[in-house]
Amino acid sequence: MFDLNSLNPQQRKAVTHKKGSLLLLAGAGSGKTRVITCRIAHLLHQGVAARQILAVTFTNKAAREMAERVNEMVGKNSAKGMLIATFHSLCLRILKAHIDRLGFKKNFSIYASSDQQRLIRDLLREIGAESSSKAADQLLWRISNAKNHLISADKYQASDRDPLSALVTTIYPRYQQALKAFNAVDFDDLLMLAVQLLEQYPDILDHYCDRFQYQMVDEYQDTNPVQYRLLKLLASSHGNLCVVGDDDQSIYAFRGADVANILDFENDFPDTSVIKLEQNYRSTGNILAAANAVIKNNKQRREKALWTDSGTGAKIEYRLCEDGEDEARQVMEQIHIEKYKGKLKYGDFAILYRTNSQSRAFEEQLRYENIPYVLIGGQQFFDRKEIKDVIAYLKVIQNPADEVNLLRILNYPKRGIGTGSIDHIIRYSAEEKRSLWNILQQVDLVPKMQDRTAIACADFVTLIKRYQKRFKQPLRLLETLQELIAELKLADEIYRQEKDHQVARRRVENQEELFNSMAIYLERTPQPDLAGFLERLSIFDDSAAGKNDKESKLSSDSVTLMSLHSSKGLEFPVIFLAGMEEGFLPHKNSLADAAAIDEERRLCYVGITRAQQQLFLLGARQRRKYGKLDQREPSRFLSEIPAELLLQASSEQPAATTEEEKDASASNFFANMNQMFGD
Ligand code: ATP
Ligand code: MG
Repeated sequence: MFDLNSLNPQQRKAVTHKKGSLLLLAGAGSGKTRVITCRIAHLLHQGVAARQILAVTFTNKAAREMAERVNEMVGKNSAKGMLIATFHSLCLRILKAHIDRLGFKKNFSIYASSDQQRLIRDLLREIGAESSSKAADQLLWRISNAKNHLISADKYQASDRDPLSALVTTIYPRYQQALKAFNAVDFDDLLMLAVQLLEQYPDILDHYCDRFQYQMVDEYQDTNPVQYRLLKLLASSHGNLCVVGDDDQSIYAFRGADVANILDFENDFPDTSVIKLEQNYRSTGNILAAANAVIKNNKQRREKALWTDSGTGAKIEYRLCEDGEDEARQVMEQIHIEKYKGKLKYGDFAILYRTNSQSRAFEEQLRYENIPYVLIGGQQFFDRKEIKDVIAYLKVIQNPADEVNLLRILNYPKRGIGTGSIDHIIRYSAEEKRSLWNILQQVDLVPKMQDRTAIACADFVTLIKRYQKRFKQPLRLLETLQELIAELKLADEIYRQEKDHQVARRRVENQEELFNSMAIYLERTPQPDLAGFLERLSIFDDSAAGKNDKESKLSSDSVTLMSLHSSKGLEFPVIFLAGMEEGFLPHKNSLADAAAIDEERRLCYVGITRAQQQLFLLGARQRRKYGKLDQREPSRFLSEIPAELLLQASSEQPAATTEEEKDASASNFFANMNQMFGD
């Protein structure tokens, strides 16, 4: 049940705020997200129609949780029709309804990073430039950045300060043309094209302004220019926009987010009411004190006085571990201890880290100990070749104009269409200015084609068309996916190519894991179709993992593993913040730049403030890197936490065996430790 009395006076003011713009600025755990959910419930109670309510949050997980909270407060029926979305899913919705106005077809594909990579490398090859994956990444980064700042291909200008930018002026327009020809968009296009639609077509803009009379945005500090433009457009006719955020948690500068957007808001919506919240309801006193002590080292910030009345609580524990494996073992041990004490379940623990690659040691240990877990945000699963192969089939079945994926599967598994023939078909399609799919359907008209190859192409076309029909039956989506994988004999192909039997078996099992994905999709979706499943795989699923989590994905009681970036907005009774070392947090790429260090400090602040009752900070003395041992130093942020808040423990230091191991960095490291803890 929803009760206004459960809110403090400032929160209540925000929740009951009537029309006009509202900016809620407040520190971590002060109830910003709760204000949004309560505001939605309040609006519904006041008789506002659910379909007039729009809330935008940062991750799909956050959106799901928000919807659940509202449902609990007002009942599922009253909330039916409201839209709680991420920026990407909101824009996807707009595009699905109107993208034909921009010259795309409605069955357009969404290109994941691997598709983008392939396309950019092809384009680089075409103009005779270096086409390594590193070169492609650098270009994609620039293009993405341009799109985040609403700079379209025709407006992009080279800059003297950026040697790569000249190449971007050549590739960016070609990249956009190719995407359009393939009826495909990338992630950043979802936003940029939605903004284009709203800017170019007043009827579409009116429709959405009118539909979403009440708009709310969580984690506002992390919106980038294209997201901000979208918000401004959507609220342009009525200004009923309520944004909540915390400048201390701005952690997406690398994607173009700029805390200055808070100032922009007050300028663009001059009558904005500003409300501040100061009581933290999430964490115990020690945790909050540590968070405050760390963040106060950032110079440019709005001073806040966050307080809590929930008692000091347990001290924060710092564990100096031997290496990465030891760090993972210590976390497991602690989970067992806390579980043994009773009260806590697996779902109460989260392990946070700076970079996704840090998850490996924890995953291994969790599997070894048979502890169920979910990995949030890691794309590793969908990046596996065997998974991408199946997804490529599905994408082509959905949208045969998608040439990046068409070329990926035309001769996979091998069906006798050699590279020579493929090149020949590509050349012919370019000469004729017809799409590959178009040519393949009439391959007998292509001059100088061998009969055998022509037959193989025709069989391929028949196969795709057959599955286009089959996938149209929503009740048989899972069976059809199973039939497709069986008919393609992908498992045989994997065993043929992969000599290591164990590895091959795992890869086949990974493909079967897609069946689980489909089963979960079917369970959650009232009107399933292939397009929806592909969307889920590409943008809606921020949880993806390896095989052990078959059960854990379905049961809610599992340990959560995620990066600090993904942890925004969430809370857990017990947090393990791993890799508290220079090079991880702060990240090695940030060490030379004061502004980047400040952003790392905000990340650290986000991590600390996820904890409700207990916070464990862990770091290793050394880590293996490319097979060699790398000596590590504790994170500078540790020394910013007052000693009286910390309990420290350290694993046995082994006797150094060689002179090398006693090198300068090791002694440095102990000097540093002594300085920090004064022993
Ligand atoms: P973050 O900055 O991390 O996103 P937030 O400001 O959005 O945090 P919430 O997640 O909304 O904070 O709230 C933090 C916790 O405090 C939640 O468990 C919430 O239910 C609780 N909380 C918020 N306000 C109150 C209140 N007035 N009374 C009791 N509990 C509250
Ligand atoms: Mg929040």
